[in-house]
Amino acid sequence: MPAEVKSEIKPSEEEKERKGPKGRPIITSERCKGCGFCVEFCPSNVLRMSQSFNSKGYHHPEIADAEACTGCDLCGLYCPDFAIYGIRRGRRMKDEN
Ligand code: SF4
Ligand code: SF4
Repeated sequence: MPAEVKSEIKPSEEEKERKGPKGRPIITSERCKGCGFCVEFCPSNVLRMSQSFNSKGYHHPEIADAEACTGCDLCGLYCPDFAIYGIRRGRRMKDEN
């Protein structure tokens, strides 16, 4: 009789030890036109509009609560100017700082 095969995927020790946010937003403030959609639609209230301006004269988003980011990328979905997107932790993007 074949041995029982367990298909349960368990987190590695490294994954278990990971703490902190699940993702983070990448903001290119110079592309921003200040519409505020990213702030409005972020389900975790990670973002707020900055008091400062970019070179075009628009307020841009900044991170208000980095720990809350899930990397869901809703900010990226709603941004009409490709000025922000969210990434899940552990992934690196070419223009990530
Ligand atoms: S959705 Fe895009 S353009 Fe609008 S405030 Fe956010 S980053 Fe700027
Ligand atoms: S990736 Fe999701 S949780 Fe993170 S800032 Fe964007 S909308 Fe908010």
